[in-house]
Amino acid sequence: MSTVPEIFGSMVFNDATMRQRLPKETYKALKKTIDNGEALDISVANVVANAMKDWACEHGATHYTHWFQPLTGITSEKHDSFIQPTSDGGVIMEFSGKELIKGEPDASSFPSGGLRATCEARGYTAWDPTSYAFIKDDTLCIPTAFCSYTGEALDKKTPLLRSMDAVSTQACRILKLFGLDVSRVSSTVGAEQEYFLVDKEDYKKRRDLILTGRTLFGCPPAKGQEMEEHYFGVIRPVVSDYMKEVDEELWKLGILAKTKHNEVAPAQHELAPVFSTTNSAIDGNLLTMEVMKKVAEKHGLVCLLHEKPFAGVNGSGKHNNWSISAPGLNLLDPGKKPMENLRFLVFLAAVIKAVDEYQDLLRVSVASPGNDHRLGANEAPPAIISMFVGDELAEVIDALADDAEYHVHEREKMDLGVAALPKFSKDNTDRNRTSPFAFTGNKFEFRAPGSNMNLSDVNTVLNTAVAKELREFADELETAENFEAAAMALVKKTVKEHKRIIFNGNGYSEEWPVEAEKRGLCNLKSTVDALPCMLSEKNVKLMNDFGVLSPTEVHARYEVGLENYSKVLNIEALTMLEMANQQIVPAIISYEKQLASTISEMHSVSSSIPCKTETHQLETLAECADTISDAISELRVARKAAKNDPDPLESARAFHDVVIPIMDKLRAAADHAEQVCGEEFWPLPTYTQMLWYVKD
Ligand code: ADP
Ligand code: MG
Repeated sequence: MSTVPEIFGSMVFNDATMRQRLPKETYKALKKTIDNGEALDISVANVVANAMKDWACEHGATHYTHWFQPLTGITSEKHDSFIQPTSDGGVIMEFSGKELIKGEPDASSFPSGGLRATCEARGYTAWDPTSYAFIKDDTLCIPTAFCSYTGEALDKKTPLLRSMDAVSTQACRILKLFGLDVSRVSSTVGAEQEYFLVDKEDYKKRRDLILTGRTLFGCPPAKGQEMEEHYFGVIRPVVSDYMKEVDEELWKLGILAKTKHNEVAPAQHELAPVFSTTNSAIDGNLLTMEVMKKVAEKHGLVCLLHEKPFAGVNGSGKHNNWSISAPGLNLLDPGKKPMENLRFLVFLAAVIKAVDEYQDLLRVSVASPGNDHRLGANEAPPAIISMFVGDELAEVIDALADDAEYHVHEREKMDLGVAALPKFSKDNTDRNRTSPFAFTGNKFEFRAPGSNMNLSDVNTVLNTAVAKELREFADELETAENFEAAAMALVKKTVKEHKRIIFNGNGYSEEWPVEAEKRGLCNLKSTVDALPCMLSEKNVKLMNDFGVLSPTEVHARYEVGLENYSKVLNIEALTMLEMANQQIVPAIISYEKQLASTISEMHSVSSSIPCKTETHQLETLAECADTISDAISELRVARKAAKNDPDPLESARAFHDVVIPIMDKLRAAADHAEQVCGEEFWPLPTYTQMLWYVKD
């Protein structure tokens, strides 16, 4: 058996492979492109392409694909083989620099939010040399950006790369003022991926899971997550085998899979990698999700990545751990004495200001119909964006804002009261799971993103907003006479003006929304409430000023967001109607029939038998059936009206305001019937069965 270091990255055309396989000059030229974002010469590309192809073929690849991330957020690929016919009727394997650098897929079937008319179906994919090519499924995958014929970004990667450049440029300016001359600052991301695993046989019996990724019906199990035994609990053997294979597949792809454990809800788990540069971390996360789904099949399982597969237990998120680093230097590391670390304070102030000024955009970046079930549901942070900084930093910030003295705390030693146990220093940030944006020692953890999301949107906003604040700071500080005094004054002023975004209390409490409103923070409860914020002048200007998204590109994303919301809700409503009509109502009727004939048979024996139980069950079911039937009729009408509304925003609003409450009513009645109906009559695997792996 191979060791982990041997298999790690074996399917990736990474730096080591490039160095080994490319002529020195070519390697140097490519490295320049990767490190400094310089354009790649076609003659260099030809050599790289040929080396890539040889390497890929040796590893069993027959095809290549430009692997990209259209506005759906998932990844797309169209495979072309390397074959090239020869005059003697055979083939040779070929791959040119042109094919490596640029592809021309038909873009007409991808969402474009009006950016591309169907008649101009052409789109371009362009190689992102800063993310390594890799092999999966006998195909050489080349990470690419995707844009329209007229050059607008039709994907999630392009704006992300632009935002990384923006934050790098501005952070370098600030570092220069501190005497550090660096050419690149990178934003880094570590994405903690939560997921559920269910039995494949159960899954196949649930049309809702198949079509929508979540259960649209199902009453809560007698036992949910209240015993708090699943989190970090012993991993079930079938799951453990699954996790081992996932790790191995990810390692081959050069993904730094590190941590795995059971999560809070039964059947819920988490995988976290070691962090890396944002774009490769996101490519890695997208691949992780794909591998997680594929490997599950082999173990008789299905991996659910939806934000809320089951009502009544926690949903799944994807925590976005984020920082910015110069080579070998994490700029958000406070060191031992944060108050004396002016560089840290400047970057911290920039993040505080960015999160406060662009809280609405951050909220938009995590808005999706699936995530609407999580945010604010006492299992995930509320829809109000605020920051948690922990006690020590809170004191530092208070002192800065009030221009007061700050006394350095000796790090408190924690004494566990047992001589044999080591004494360790208390961390300078505690955990606050109720905060959406928490400082966790040397990085921020944005906890609002949903499990199914492509993290590009989140990080595009974060990077660009921080770039904007750093630019403002650099503009001011570059002309200052006394840099240090000016920087300190700027930090103080910034903190004073944006302190309202900091909240160290309980984000789940009832008082918080009231307090947040007093502070003037946004509380955008649903996707439909959030999306229009993208179009505000301030937000369009931010994206445009840094060349991240033009106003047209922003508008396209707004349209795609609304369209996606309505489509998802429409599918959910239709699935509910289908299941209610074809599965649930017939099940209820069968049981009713059995009860009715039991009652009449019993009465035919003796009319004095009261048949109380049978009658009561029958009456309850009949009542549920009537409510279901009414809800079905209402849902039919409301869905159609919402879908047919020509105004995209009004259509989405109608789904949110009118359709969802009827769906809730239909579900409640069906779930009630499930509790009454005989087990062998109920056509769907129950929550107990799915969450607790109960086998027939
Ligand atoms: P938690 O206790 O929050 O569940 P995990 O260990 O599961 O912590 O995940 C923390 C994540 O944060 C990991 O992916 C880790 O690599 C990442 N991380 C650590 N430092 C940084 C950093 N400087 N920038 C970005 N991510 C980081
Ligand atoms: Mg974790």
